[in-house]
Amino acid sequence: MLHNIFICFLYIFINFAESNINAMAGLYVHIPICRHKCLYCDFYSCGEKAVDADALIACICEEMRRRRKELYDDRNLFQDFSRPLFDTVYIGGGTPSLLTENQLRKLLREIYAIFNIKEGAEVTIEVNPDDVTADLCAVLKECGVNRISAGIQSLVDKELLAVGRRHNADTARRAMGLLSEHFDNCSFDLIFGLPGQTFQSWKYSVDEVMAYRPKHISCYSLMYEEGTALTLLRDQGRIKESNEILSEKMFGYIQRAAADHNYIQYEISNYAQPGFESRHNSSYWCGAPYLGIGPGAHSYDGDRKRRANTPDSRKYIKHFSSVEDKPFYEEEILSDAELKEEYLLTRLRMRKGFSREDYVAHFGGIDDIAPRLNRLLSEGLLIEEGGYIKIAPEHIMMSDAIIVELF
Ligand code: SF4
Repeated sequence: MLHNIFICFLYIFINFAESNINAMAGLYVHIPICRHKCLYCDFYSCGEKAVDADALIACICEEMRRRRKELYDDRNLFQDFSRPLFDTVYIGGGTPSLLTENQLRKLLREIYAIFNIKEGAEVTIEVNPDDVTADLCAVLKECGVNRISAGIQSLVDKELLAVGRRHNADTARRAMGLLSEHFDNCSFDLIFGLPGQTFQSWKYSVDEVMAYRPKHISCYSLMYEEGTALTLLRDQGRIKESNEILSEKMFGYIQRAAADHNYIQYEISNYAQPGFESRHNSSYWCGAPYLGIGPGAHSYDGDRKRRANTPDSRKYIKHFSSVEDKPFYEEEILSDAELKEEYLLTRLRMRKGFSREDYVAHFGGIDDIAPRLNRLLSEGLLIEEGGYIKIAPEHIMMSDAIIVELF
C-alpha cells in the first residue's frame, strides 16, 4: 500500500515537473545562411557558397541528438527521459528558406524524431519573400510547419534597395498572397526609419501589409549596429539616419492602425490578432527555457545558465563531424543582479508587465527596486493596472530608457 502511494506520488511529481518545463520549453534552430548580407544586419550568417548546407544540416541533427536531454538534465528533471517535449519550434536565421526541399524535409523529420513535439505545438520558419513558391509552402506544411515569419520590411522598392534586401515590393506582395493562401498563421515583419522613408511611404507599407490580414505583425525600428555596413555608410555621410520625431510618428501610426484592425500590441514591437501572439517569442520574454541549436545559437536553462554556440559554421561542421562529444558552446552563469536586469528587461517588453507577487516569488522581496519603481510610477512613466506594473502606453517607445532606470 505504502509502496503504491509512493509510486503514485512519484508519478504525480514527475508529471508535474515534466509539465512544468514542457509547458514552456522551446527549440530554436539557427540556419546561418544568407544569399547576401543586408546592410543593417548583425546576426551571424555566412554566404551560401561559404558553407556546405548538406553537411550543416547533418551536423545540426547531430547536435540535436547530442543535446537532446540538456534542458531536462540542467533542471534535474527526469534524467532518463528519452524524447523531451517541446511546446514551440522556431527555425530562424539567416535564411532557412534557402534550404532545398530535401534539406528541409530531413531537418524537420529529425526534429520530430529526436524530440517529442507537443500536439498543437507552434512550429515557425522564417522565409525570405524571394524564396516563397507554392511548392515551398506545400513542403513546409507537409513537414509540420504551421506558422511562417516573412521579412517583408517595406513595400517601397527604393527603401528595400537602400538597406540591401534582395527582394522587391512586387515579390513581397506575391509572397504575402501565397503564404496567406497556404497558412492560417503568418507573421510579416516591417521596419521603420529606413533611409529615405517618409511618413506617407511608411503608412503605405503598413496599410498594404494589414490588408493581407496576417495574424501577426512584427515592427522594428531600424538599428545602426556597430560594425554593420549601414553604420559605416552613415558615418561616411552617405546615408542619413531617420530623425527621432519622424520615427515616433511612424511608431504611433502602426500602433493606431493595429488597434483599428483589432491587433493587440502584446510586446513593444509585436502585434497579434487575439490568440495569435507568438508563443515561442513570448516564452523568451517570460524566462522559459529554450534549447538553441546551430552555429551562433543561444540556449537558456530557465534558471541561471546561458549557453552560446560559437558563431562559425566551418568550425561547427568540423566539430559535429567528429565523434568526440565535447560542448561547442560557451557557458555563462547569471549573477543575481543580471537575473534581475534580465527579468525587468523581458517582462517590461511585454504589454502585460509584471506583478509585485511574481517579482517577490523570483527574488524574495521587492525592496531593492522599490524607491526607483515608486519614482517611475509617480512620474507616470510606469503604471500599475490590474495588479501589473507596465510601461505607460504613451512612453512605450522609450521603454529601454525607462527600464534601465530600475536597475
Ligand atoms: S536575410 Fe536576415 S539574417 Fe540574412 S542578412 Fe538579411 S537580415 Fe540578416
